[in-house]
Amino acid sequence: MHIDTITPAGPAWHAQALCAQTGADFFFPEPGSSVREAKRICGMCEMRSACLEYALAHDERFGVWGGLSEKERLQLRNTRP
Ligand code: SF4
Repeated sequence: MHIDTITPAGPAWHAQALCAQTGADFFFPEPGSSVREAKRICGMCEMRSACLEYALAHDERFGVWGGLSEKERLQLRNTRP
């Protein structure tokens, strides 16, 4: 049996992202849920810097990117010139 999957093309660094192996659930938790596990995985990911820059450049509002929560990215964005 052959099952087609639709995988949208992501940024080049995404192929090496740890979250590509773990699945997205940790990184887009329900509001009020802990992001600790997502941050722990991000802390081991070699693509962390690229991921964070991508999220900031594309104004990603939801989920954990580059080890930072939505609130932390907003704070970082507001402190940048
Ligand atoms: S740093 Fe980015 S690419 Fe790496 S695991 Fe975290 S969310 Fe995924």
